[in-house]
Amino acid sequence: MRLGIFGGTFDPIHNGHVRLAIEAAEALDLDRVVLEVAKQSPLKESCFASEEDRLQMVELAVEGEPGLAVGRFELSRPAPSYAVDTVEHYRKQSLDLWLLLGADSLMALDEWKDPDLLLEMCRLGVAERPGHVLKPESVSVMRRGRVDIFEMRQMDVSSTEIRERIADGRSIRGLVSDSVLRFIEEKRLYRRDREKFI
Ligand code: ATP
Repeated sequence: MRLGIFGGTFDPIHNGHVRLAIEAAEALDLDRVVLEVAKQSPLKESCFASEEDRLQMVELAVEGEPGLAVGRFELSRPAPSYAVDTVEHYRKQSLDLWLLLGADSLMALDEWKDPDLLLEMCRLGVAERPGHVLKPESVSVMRRGRVDIFEMRQMDVSSTEIRERIADGRSIRGLVSDSVLRFIEEKRLYRRDREKFI
């Protein structure tokens, strides 16, 4: 099985995330993509929504999408989560592994834990992202032949933008799935304290 692992805080999951997973599966001929929900990114401030809410939103977003699944490995362990540990875990399911990420995350690869070991265990599937052109410093990694860049429909949306829109009382329809939109509205997520959402 050719398996893709797509990690994120998904705070909240949006259509750019879902398109990345679908287009990676098509471009890299993956049988399955697991959206692995991070407990807490080592490189980010704490999350805004709870683990349970972020997990539920990912479940709603991938419901009915063939080939997409939700990963709970990182949530089951103490924070912070490192990709190298997650990949090692998924090697029990498949040795044909791709870690999927947007171009902005590739830029930070050197700050990750054990990037060399990581690249021995999996390939990277990287999608270009609006505003994040792949820079020369990422080329050394690419030369090692462990990075597959794939084209995806450019979707200029981020979780930060969604949180800001909600805090400003603006619509996020079309940026997240209808089921995720309903969930956010019902639970009144990202509304509380304006300062926290930026
Ligand atoms: P935030 O705005 O809170 O930083 P985010 O929208 O970047 O969040 P994350 O959960 O941090 O979302 O990202 C998970 C992965 O999804 C990262 O590899 C990131 O590069 C990628 N990604 C997020 N949004 C897009 C997008 N619109 N197009 C392509 N890749 C994306």
